[in-house]
Amino acid sequence: MEFKQVTLGAKKNIALIAHDNKKQDMVAWCKEHKAELLNHNLYATGTTGMIIEQDTGLPIKKLISGPLGGDQQVGALITQGEVDVLIFFWDPFEPMPHDPDVKALLRIAAVWNIPIACNHISADFLIASPLFNSPSPRTVPDYAAYLAKRAVSL
Ligand code: PGA
Repeated sequence: MEFKQVTLGAKKNIALIAHDNKKQDMVAWCKEHKAELLNHNLYATGTTGMIIEQDTGLPIKKLISGPLGGDQQVGALITQGEVDVLIFFWDPFEPMPHDPDVKALLRIAAVWNIPIACNHISADFLIASPLFNSPSPRTVPDYAAYLAKRAVSL
């Protein structure tokens, strides 16, 4: 795989997802960091977004609910370069009907080198980083180079 450098803007596109047993934890995290989060664009899966909006007043671009495809929508946005950071409080104690979507999302976030926080403390570390609010470099797959290589090999 060929890679290239891109620069993330100071204003990040952040996707927020929380499984049901983690939703109150996500709301608490959003309340703690409301002032910082107001400087960024926020996306969330349907129910997570609804609850965060209700309880914190933060503006959220709401996608469809996770079990109905919201996790895959976040994955698609990552692939399109429209999500820069993933805050995903998944529940390690409860199997979900959409576990394959969760796995797919985590894979695609790794492919595109997205910073991921899977719990409250990791999200605290991420948002405390000086990179969170300033332009930051990111290495991503070079799709043009990938296609050119494929064209030669097939
Ligand atoms: P929800 O989806 O925000 O609609 O609950 C989250 C998930 O379960 O992936």
